[in-house]
Amino acid sequence: MDTLDRHYAQLLGLQSPWEVMDVNLDLEKLHVTIRLEHPNGETVQCPECGCQCTIADRGPERRWRHIDTMQFKTELVAATPRCNCAKCGVKTIAVPWAGKNSRFTLMFESFALTVIKACGTVHQAKGLLKIGWDAVHRIMERGVERGLKRRKVEGIKYAGIDEKSFRKGHNYITVLNDLEGARVLEVVEGRTQQNAEDLWDTLDEEVRNAIEAVAMDMWEPFIKSTRLKLPDASIVHDRFHISGYLNKAVNEIRSKEHKEFMAMGDTTLKCSRQLWLFNVENVSEERWMEFDELLKMDLKCAEAWAMKESMRHFWDYKYAGSAENYFEKWLAWVEEHGQAPMKKVGQMIKNHLADVLTYFRHRITNAFSEGINSKIQSIKSMARGFRGFKNYRIRILFFCGKLDMAISPATH
Ligand SMILES: [Zn+2]
Repeated sequence: MDTLDRHYAQLLGLQSPWEVMDVNLDLEKLHVTIRLEHPNGETVQCPECGCQCTIADRGPERRWRHIDTMQFKTELVAATPRCNCAKCGVKTIAVPWAGKNSRFTLMFESFALTVIKACGTVHQAKGLLKIGWDAVHRIMERGVERGLKRRKVEGIKYAGIDEKSFRKGHNYITVLNDLEGARVLEVVEGRTQQNAEDLWDTLDEEVRNAIEAVAMDMWEPFIKSTRLKLPDASIVHDRFHISGYLNKAVNEIRSKEHKEFMAMGDTTLKCSRQLWLFNVENVSEERWMEFDELLKMDLKCAEAWAMKESMRHFWDYKYAGSAENYFEKWLAWVEEHGQAPMKKVGQMIKNHLADVLTYFRHRITNAFSEGINSKIQSIKSMARGFRGFKNYRIRILFFCGKLDMAISPATH
C-alpha cells in the first residue's frame, strides 16, 4: 500500500483483510475510484449461517457511492468474494462498508439521512447529494425500516386518528398519531372502516388496550372501527374539527348573504371573507375597527360569527356537567336564530355530545395532528412525480415518525 492507499484505507475504516489496491483520480471528471480487494487464501464468513468458509470465487465488480472527497465524487469498487458454505452453498459475503443490496457506503447513507432530515424536502436533498429520486427514496425506506424495528409503542395513552386528502380529488389517507409522543405511528390509504381497522391492527392488541382515549372527527368509519378495536377507549370528538365545522358554516352564510347583497349592488361584505374566520385575538386593531362596523350591522353572518365565537367558551369549562348546560343554551340560541348551516352543525354536535364531553376528562385534541397536517401537506406538495401511496407513507414516517434511523454497524 502506498501513502494515498493507506490514507483511504484509514478514511474508510477498512478492516483486514480488505485492502485498498488502487486509487484512481480523474481530474477532468472530478472523480475518485477506490479499488478494494479481499486477498485469496483468507477464510470468509457465510452471510447466512455465519460459519467460516473458503472462498469459492468472486462475484462481478460492484460500485458503492461514498462521501465526496473534497469536490471529488468518490466511489468504491470491489469484486466481492463468494463463500463456499457446506450448509448454504455459494453466497456473496457481506462487505463491512455497506448494507446488503445498497449502492451506497454506510457512511454515505448515514450522511444522506442527516441531509434529507435537515432539508425537509426530497427535492433539495437530491440536489445536494447528487443522487436520483429512487436513491433518496431507498435510503429513506431503509431508514424507516430500521426505525420501525427499534420503535417502542408500549404505554401510549392518547391516540389521534385523522384523515388527509392525498393527491387531487377524493383520495384519502388515514393517519394514526401518538398524541403525547407527538409522532405519526402509521398511515393507510383510504378512510373506510376497513382502512381504519387495518390501521388499528398495526398495533398489538395489548398496546391498543392500554390506550385510554382517541381524538377524532365525527366520522362514522373512525368511530365504528375504534369501538371495535379499542372497546374500552373513550372517543373524543375534538375541538379542532368542531371549530372547523363552525368556521365552514359561518363562511357559507357569509357567502350566501354576500351574493344577495351584490344582487342589489351592495358591496358591504366584499373582501370580508378572512375577517369572519380570524380569531379575535389575532386580528390587527385596524382590521378590528373595520370588522366592528360590520358586527354592528344587522347581518346574518355577524350572528353566525357570534355563535361560532360563543362556542369557544364551551371548551373553557372545568366540568362536563357545566359544559353540557352551556351547550344546551347555545343550541337553543342556534335553533331559534341560526341559519341552516349553523343549525346543522349544532345538530351534529348534539348527536355526538357524549363523545364531545369526554374532552373534560381527557383534554386531548388533534392540535398536534394539525401541526403534522401542515408537515404532511408540505410533503405532498413537494412530491411532484410522486409514485403512489407507498412512497408517501415512507416520507410521512421519515419526517413525522420520530424514528431512530441511525446506522450502526451492528444493524445494517
Ligand atoms: Zn452458511
